[in-house]
Amino acid sequence: MTEATPALCRDCLTLFEDTPAERCPECASPRLFAHGELPTLSLAHLDCDAFFASIEKRDNPELADKPVIVGGGRRGVVAACCYVARIYGVRSAMPMFKALERCPDAVVIRPDMDRYRAAGRRVRELMQDITPLVEPLSIDEAFLDLSGIETLHGGRPARSLARLVLDIERELGVTASIGLSYNKFLAKIASDLDKPRGFAAIGRAEALDFLAEKPVGIISGVGKAMQASLSRDGITRISHLRRYEEIDLIARYGAMGRRLYSFARGVDKRQVEPNAPTKSISAETTFDTDVADADELLSRLWPLCETVAARLKKSGLAGHGVTLKLKTRDFQTLTRSQRLQDPTRLADRLYRAAEPLLRKAADGRRFRLIGIGAHDLVDAALADPPSLLDPDIGRHAKVEAAMDRVRGKLGADAIVKGRGFKT
Ligand SMILES: [Mg+2]
Repeated sequence: MTEATPALCRDCLTLFEDTPAERCPECASPRLFAHGELPTLSLAHLDCDAFFASIEKRDNPELADKPVIVGGGRRGVVAACCYVARIYGVRSAMPMFKALERCPDAVVIRPDMDRYRAAGRRVRELMQDITPLVEPLSIDEAFLDLSGIETLHGGRPARSLARLVLDIERELGVTASIGLSYNKFLAKIASDLDKPRGFAAIGRAEALDFLAEKPVGIISGVGKAMQASLSRDGITRISHLRRYEEIDLIARYGAMGRRLYSFARGVDKRQVEPNAPTKSISAETTFDTDVADADELLSRLWPLCETVAARLKKSGLAGHGVTLKLKTRDFQTLTRSQRLQDPTRLADRLYRAAEPLLRKAADGRRFRLIGIGAHDLVDAALADPPSLLDPDIGRHAKVEAAMDRVRGKLGADAIVKGRGFKT
């Protein structure tokens, strides 16, 4: 006699103690989710499917069956691509020229972040309706801890999640995929297994086997360099990691060794942290043609400083550190950081901190991208105190505050400070 496997109909949300033979007996839907640990798994990763592209399709039904790529001009990269475009081999983060080689008929759409952000905010609200423990990872994905949900809603986590994605579909017209497990590491992997409109779980009983043959790169934090050094030691798959004691992995790979040891065994103790503090606020732009001239680079930098300052002000934060980012034409990334005397939320101070870094970095090389970020974020109350070293600071703050007020009334483009004009 085989054990019963509980199941859930993802359309009518009926729970079954044992999995129906084919379709849901209640509503005839084929979308049954069956899993032995369905009643106990409560850590989820929700990821919207091709989010930007889905919003574009939602708002323009003529695009429904067409390959759609959202991204910058020919020099940019693919920010999102729909599943039709993926059939042609287009992937997100792929350079646009390459994407268009693979799919010349693609409809390319410039990103409209305001629209995406509005939809992302609503997705977040819907998630927060089912649990307060929502940790956003980006505009369209988050971890959800539903371990307390049984008492809260009298329903199983899986059921609440299935209802959530139906709500997102109905209200926002975009689809999402769910990964369900018992920790963050595995939930994030699971949400990718059944995309789009997926619902997949990795349970305790299967985690070790599931992971064994996976490449070590599946562990978050294991990038290219780490993979290379692991590979030199003969470790390419998760099962290889299990040959070593924790103490050996720590000795060899430092703090990362601890994660390698536990993740390889399906153990991840990280909690879901709602509203995890923002680590940095940044803005960047990719040029249509490469730029080498320092003054030209500086003129591109100024609007980015304004963007970062606006975001700092909006979130009530100030940056104690400033990082300048440049990408060379052959895709090498340079970053140069500077710690400030005092935390700032002013575009002008960000700019003045970055200027000498940029003048030094601009040694004749041609760059394809420039960016600036504020990090070491602190509460805005600590920002820009009057300073003897910088007596102008109060005036800068007043001018920027006045500009913000006008922008608030008239829109962001109402005032462009001197440096923002194209020369
Ligand atoms: Mg997504």
